[in-house]
Amino acid sequence: MCGIVGAVAQRDVVEILVEGLRRLEYRGYDSAGVAVISNSGELQRLRRLGKVKELSDAVKLTPTPGGTGIAHTRWATHGEPSERNAHPHVSEKISVVHNGIIENHGPLREMLKGKGYVFNSDTDTEVIAHLVEEELKTSESLLSAVQKAVKQFNGAYGTVLMDQTDPSRLVVARSGSPLVIGLGIGENFIASDQLALLPVTRRFMFLEEGDVAEITRTTVRIFDKNGAPVERVAHESNVSYDAGDKGQYRHFMLKEIYEQPFAINNTLEGRLNAESVLDETFGNGAAELFKKVKHVQIVACGTSYHSGMVARYWLESLGGISCNVEIASEFRYRKSFVQPNSLLVSISQSGETADTLAALRLAKEAGYVGSLTICNVAGSSLVRESDLAFMTRAGAEIGVASTKAFTTQLVGLAMLTLAIGKYNGLTAAQQKDMVEALRSLPAKLEQTLELASSIEKLAEEFADKHNSLFLGRGDQYPIAMEGALKLKEISYIHAEAYAAGELKHGPLALIDAQMPIIVVAPNNELLEKLQSNVEEVRARGGILYVFADANAHFKSDATQRVVNVPHVHPLIAPIIYTIPLQLLSYYVAIIKGTDVDQPRNLAKSVTVE
Ligand code: GLU
Repeated sequence: MCGIVGAVAQRDVVEILVEGLRRLEYRGYDSAGVAVISNSGELQRLRRLGKVKELSDAVKLTPTPGGTGIAHTRWATHGEPSERNAHPHVSEKISVVHNGIIENHGPLREMLKGKGYVFNSDTDTEVIAHLVEEELKTSESLLSAVQKAVKQFNGAYGTVLMDQTDPSRLVVARSGSPLVIGLGIGENFIASDQLALLPVTRRFMFLEEGDVAEITRTTVRIFDKNGAPVERVAHESNVSYDAGDKGQYRHFMLKEIYEQPFAINNTLEGRLNAESVLDETFGNGAAELFKKVKHVQIVACGTSYHSGMVARYWLESLGGISCNVEIASEFRYRKSFVQPNSLLVSISQSGETADTLAALRLAKEAGYVGSLTICNVAGSSLVRESDLAFMTRAGAEIGVASTKAFTTQLVGLAMLTLAIGKYNGLTAAQQKDMVEALRSLPAKLEQTLELASSIEKLAEEFADKHNSLFLGRGDQYPIAMEGALKLKEISYIHAEAYAAGELKHGPLALIDAQMPIIVVAPNNELLEKLQSNVEEVRARGGILYVFADANAHFKSDATQRVVNVPHVHPLIAPIIYTIPLQLLSYYVAIIKGTDVDQPRNLAKSVTVE
């Protein structure tokens, strides 16, 4: 789930490892650790509960020389967050860091205990160290011991191992959790995300599912899941070095909220002409596939699921095609009916979301006509394993609570509506109108961001609240859901979203002056219905916060605060109305003093199910 960094070099690597962990902090974690082998073969291991800062302070006080080392930020799945459960874990000679879960750790642990191994943590990870130690007794190298061990693991892992008696190499294995090799000159590196290694290299090799690799200072040998030697292509990274830098902003989340006009401009760049979306936008063969598609099945989790829900409105009302949206963790465990000529669309910021990836893999067997992923990370598993990919080009998103990844996903899905719609009755005039609306987005977003100071004031009224309701109708209902999720994630205020018409079927019972009601109200065909819902709340003493189109005629008074949002084309309204809700949750979190970029208990890229 969390961060891995490793290095094999001539120079001392501890600073590189800790800096790598710092650059992965955005993923959310509970403890951090590092282990380095010195030239004389001594192992120095340091682990700390809490932030990477605690670890780097410890490193400053303890000499940790050596050119070979591994480091980890842990997001606990087995065993409480604590120093003794933090990685690296050590058997006799073997040290290991691991992302993911070894599902059959129970029987392996019993078997290893039977052979006399003593366990010093509650983690599933520790079985890796002892099992490789055991296999090493009958293997000619660490590489072959790891190859034998991984055959015995069920579950998901990205793991890096080193042998204290042979500091010349690291051995790494990937199955279900990403790993990337960073290529240097006379030194090589490994990490769970290229961002960790940008200060030392820009050349990367992405490991594939089932790969095991041995990395020395000057060589990289990779073996596929059958043990056959394979070559993986080296790529030059174009991720910006500064992606890990907050710049003038207090938090990554705020920086990323303000980056949205730029990010969306990038997402649109080169993909539209004056009339329509270009065929190449979704990759080779997209046009042939889209011509055949008669149904879209979207699978996603969390924020990405909300973007899928907006897409359902667009695909059915504009794209002329039926669409289902399902949470990936539900989809993957039920037998679903596959409509004829159905396209599977997966949505994920990281492209590594375990449930979404599993859903895609299942769908491959289930008779879908093809698969498309909407994703922000090139080279990720979803991108590699889907027939088509739309890259959102949001740039690295560091804040755990997604902002620019969400709005760029929406842009991708609006373009998908155009691309599929043109074969299903979307007229040339409608396409042109949608293209113009999309092109107006960056400027309209800039205008919407100007609401920040009035929203900051509004946030003060939420500081003492424990519950809240978000209301929207039509394609704004998923936006209300996303607003509620943001508030929960970073301010820890309980928030629920309802389609406004559902209010009288239950939640109206909750309304009183302690329950703020947030309403998203663009000027669309549902406005009058929404106004009636708002009156139902007012009549029962609720306090309303309405984000409304200036032409919608909502007025501020004692029980209703109105923030006027710029008037925009209905297609882009869901994207525009997301902004004030992001800002609201950000400013409420600031007042509450929570850890905005790394909210408690959450991780950025959810690579376990
Ligand atoms: N399952 C392991 C543990 O709980 C690894 C967690 C992670 O991916 O950070 O220690």
